[in-house]
Amino acid sequence: MGKSLSLQFGLFILICSLFSCTDSKGVVKDVEAFNLAVQNAQPGDKIILANGIWKDAELIFTGKGTAEQPIILTVEEKGEVTLEGQSNLRIAGEYLHVEGLVFKNGYTPTKEVISFRKSKEELCNNCRVTECVVDNYNNPERFESDYWVSIYGKKNRFDHNYLTGKRNHGVTLAVRLNTEESRENHHRIDHNYFGHHPILGANGGETLRVGTSHYSLTNSNTVVEYNYFDRCNGEHEIISSKSCQNIYRYNTFHECQGTLTMRHGNETLVESNYFFGNRKANTGGIRIINETQTVKNNYCEGLTGYRFRGALVIMNGVPNSPANRYFQVTNSEASNNTFVNCDHIQLCAGSDEERSAVPINSKVENNIFYNDQKDELFTVYDDISGISFNGNLINENAKPITASGFQNTSLNFKRNDDGLLIPQDEMAKEKGMVPTEGRATPDNTGVTWYPRIEDEVFFETGKTIAVKAGINTLYEAIQKSTAGDVLELESGNYVVEKSIDLKHPLSIVSKASEKPTIQFQRTSLFNIENGGSLTLKNMVIDGSEAPDAHGNTVIRTSRYSMIRNYKLFIEDCEFKDLDVNHTFDVLRVYKNTFADSIVLRNSTFTKVDGNVLALNKETDDIGIYNAENVVIENCHFKDISGIVLNLHRGGRDESTFGPMLVVDKSTFDNVGKGKRNKADASISLHGVQVAHIKNSQFNSCEPLKLHLVVGEPITKIQDCNFARTPAIQDNGEPYETENLSFN
Ligand code: CA
Repeated sequence: MGKSLSLQFGLFILICSLFSCTDSKGVVKDVEAFNLAVQNAQPGDKIILANGIWKDAELIFTGKGTAEQPIILTVEEKGEVTLEGQSNLRIAGEYLHVEGLVFKNGYTPTKEVISFRKSKEELCNNCRVTECVVDNYNNPERFESDYWVSIYGKKNRFDHNYLTGKRNHGVTLAVRLNTEESRENHHRIDHNYFGHHPILGANGGETLRVGTSHYSLTNSNTVVEYNYFDRCNGEHEIISSKSCQNIYRYNTFHECQGTLTMRHGNETLVESNYFFGNRKANTGGIRIINETQTVKNNYCEGLTGYRFRGALVIMNGVPNSPANRYFQVTNSEASNNTFVNCDHIQLCAGSDEERSAVPINSKVENNIFYNDQKDELFTVYDDISGISFNGNLINENAKPITASGFQNTSLNFKRNDDGLLIPQDEMAKEKGMVPTEGRATPDNTGVTWYPRIEDEVFFETGKTIAVKAGINTLYEAIQKSTAGDVLELESGNYVVEKSIDLKHPLSIVSKASEKPTIQFQRTSLFNIENGGSLTLKNMVIDGSEAPDAHGNTVIRTSRYSMIRNYKLFIEDCEFKDLDVNHTFDVLRVYKNTFADSIVLRNSTFTKVDGNVLALNKETDDIGIYNAENVVIENCHFKDISGIVLNLHRGGRDESTFGPMLVVDKSTFDNVGKGKRNKADASISLHGVQVAHIKNSQFNSCEPLKLHLVVGEPITKIQDCNFARTPAIQDNGEPYETENLSFN
């Protein structure tokens, strides 16, 4: 050892003894020790994070390992090291290997949790991140955007990681091509488990994105294989491929509401992927846009999605499209894929005045399109003469969409050991997909040492607790409750003197033949805070004890951003006397909150000097909205000064499926005539994607207003009577009506 080296070594020992950092095995106990270890790391070295919680740890891992001797960042014991608070990781250099980190209980202070770069100039090449976990590590501001993982540089691998519960805006995993050094990258993304990604209710909820429109005509050469996608429902695009020459294969999509979308870029191969919709709503398959795309040997079963979420979607393009719109489909193919019990195959989807360039030089060959419940699977939105159809098998009674290229047949499917439906028939040979040796499963993806998280809203999974009538008995019972509990009320009067914050799912029910009555004395009775959800069943909500001041509400959401979607169910209830002063609402929602479902059923609402459901607080008109599903069934609304339902989704964005609405068997008496009802409507729908209003009666109400925009909304008004109520007001867009009467 030379003199200066030994001096350095001595200094190192001195520092370590002063700060108790790296021990002889390479275990570091704090960020300073970590930094020092990084500075001194040589190829083959291991830096080991000590067991425990690393709070606000911003780790920058740089260095140059070699192919044979990478520098390794790992943990003392897997599952015993967590990075929390405002922690993140940046890596830059060559042959660095990261393993076993867990991010939870916090969120990144920067744009990314794990970034394959230190700065714009210092990137990663030949690095690997494996067996890491990012669990609900979300910025509490719903629309404050961040990425959990950004991959830059070249030849990096991201594998066997578990990413679950992305709830704020921003892609879960992005491959970035923003400098030359990150293009033609040959990254490999494999064997990851992408857990539940709840509906965002806006664009920006992709689980995986490769490239951006800006660099979409450059090659990325990224391979995405053997990944498991579990209910990745953020938005229309589970995967948004936005660059050239990517490969997606052997991935499994379990009940995902969206599609693998070739959004931009060309020459992408989508081969031998497996989609299982299990008949869940809005589950989709593969969407083709652009040039020279190959879709072959994929298996799609039980997908129900429509339009941009079809099992197979071939889009129309925009003539001379700008980079961020839709290029024409040309020279592309979908061959030897199996679509079994999928509901919708969409051709020339998105056809409109702007998207008028139909697919050309493309082929759809030797696929099986078979559905044992439904004969007509194809929707043809425009001229399909640019697609050649050959050798496809369809149901015996289905009507082919072209004169040749489809053969009617009855197929006999048998489920194989791997859970796939395979036709046993001779004529199905050489048709459809051939099962591959392997594919992603829950067992061969993610990590083995961290539990799979299941934290969605579930009612009635906890205890049942009897609550006596009286003053604040309900308040006290709720304070003691835990997630999924059922509070059971007896007949009698419940007075609540304080506002109740709901932070977990809770059911408040009664089985009494005489409904209990709840009165409250604050400006709101229930506040659905982040994580809260509410079911009310069989009770009277009486507003007469509320403060004599304007602005009361029975239920409100958090006034602040909520990243957890909530559910609200009101059944067999009677809301009355919400009129001690003006602007007294049933439900008041705030911006940056989102309901998966709001259901009003078998309930009455009488004398409300405000709104029932004003779901119109996202006013930026960028495709964001307040509720995915709204159901009003067998309800009676009488003497409502405000609006019963104002459902608003503004802007031109097409990334979401909702909002969706059903109104059935309901009566509206004297609704909407208060001077503060600026909507001048009893129901107002703006940008709602699916609306079905039926079997309902409107008496002396303000009109029903429809503003139909974006995404070919499906609107049907059926079997309704409008007495002393003005005609339906619309914006000139077509919708379906059946058996309406006005008198
Ligand atoms: Ca998107």
